This record gives sequence, structure tokens and C-alpha cells, in this order.
Amino acid sequence: MSESGLREEICRYGRSLFERGLTPGSSGNISLRLDDGGWLVTPTNASLGFLDPARISRLDSAGRLVSGDKPTKEIPLHAALYESRGSARAIVHLHSTHAVALTMLPEIDPRAALPPMTPYYLMRAGETALVPYYRPGDPAVADAIRGLAGKYSSVLLANHGPVVAGDSLEAAVFATEELEETARLYLLLRNLNPRYLTPDQVSDLVQTFGLDLPSHHDHDGHDHG
Ligand SMILES: [Zn+2]
Repeated sequence: MSESGLREEICRYGRSLFERGLTPGSSGNISLRLDDGGWLVTPTNASLGFLDPARISRLDSAGRLVSGDKPTKEIPLHAALYESRGSARAIVHLHSTHAVALTMLPEIDPRAALPPMTPYYLMRAGETALVPYYRPGDPAVADAIRGLAGKYSSVLLANHGPVVAGDSLEAAVFATEELEETARLYLLLRNLNPRYLTPDQVSDLVQTFGLDLPSHHDHDGHDHG
């Protein structure tokens, strides 16, 4: 797709996410990695609902602003995830209500923030890591993301929101939506003793769809379910 087509795509998905209440005000940001190693990224203080394709920040491969408005201050977040996940072409970060709520619950496992609730959660978002709270724009968040060694395409920032990578913008958006809906299901069912997918059902999905789940590629050869 041409760069102008990609700019339009960022605006279209941004508007869609905003209009469905998935990220309020000027929160949230989207980035895309281009073939020359540069990026397109949404500007700082810009609402995802009202993006202008011509004002999207264009960065070179060293992260310097080439054209457009000043980029989001959450750049370190995106840079760290691209760096550790070589296949990532796009990243979506939102302040979506249910995913943020999930990060504040005491029982959350930082290496599997959600249980295997539905096949599409596993197929689109994989498993989800939780990293501790950092002030927005704090470069230390980058170290926390690098510490996950690229095993997770979806990460929750405590008291802040999800960050999700995909091999296309569409994939990153769909995965973010799946993560938000699964967090919502979790909150609806919490303390109701729901049945999640069994280890056998998860293994079947992993094998059938070639899923890359961190809990299924440990090196000790055991199936952790
Ligand atoms: Zn944010």
C-alpha cells in the first residue's frame, strides 16, 4: 500500500476505535512501520477520532521527525515493541476501559493476564503480559517491554492500557479489540466460577492454527496448557 493509503488507513481505524468509545479524548496512539525503516505515528495530543492524514508524524529510521506534527510522547513504548518483535508492522495503544480495569485486579498473572476464555482471543491477541506502572512517556517502560523478549504481541501497562503489535494495522486493531472484549468478559464472569478453555482445547488451537503462545514454547518440552 502507498504511504498515502497507509495514512488514510490510520485515520480510518483511529476514527472507528474512537467512535466506539475504545479510547477517550486525545488518548491512544497508532504507529506503522514503513519499508524504509521509518514510521508513521499519530501526533501528540491528537484525538484518534479526528486525525488529519497530512499531519500524521513521519519519522525516519532513527526516529527523527521528518514531517507532520510532533509525535506522541509514548514513542518509547512503540519503539521497544518493534525492536523486540521483528515481525511487527503496526502497533495500537488505547486507554480502553475494561483492559485498564483488568490491570488493577490483584489476581492478575503478569505472564498471562487473561485466562484462555475464547479461541479468538488466543488466535488474535495470543497471551497477554502485564508490566508495572510507569508515568506516560517514561523511557523505563521500554526496558520493561524489552524484558519480555518479544514473546508477547499484546501487553498491558498497569493503570494505563493495552499495547498491541500486529503484522498489519488491521491485525493490530483486531487483536486490540479482541483483548478489550476478553477483558470485559473476564470482568463480567469474575467470581462466577466460569469454565475456561481446557488445556487440551488450547493445545488443539495451538496445533491447528500454528499459534505462537509463550506458554507453549518453553524449552523444557512440557505442555503447560
Ligand atoms: Zn497511553
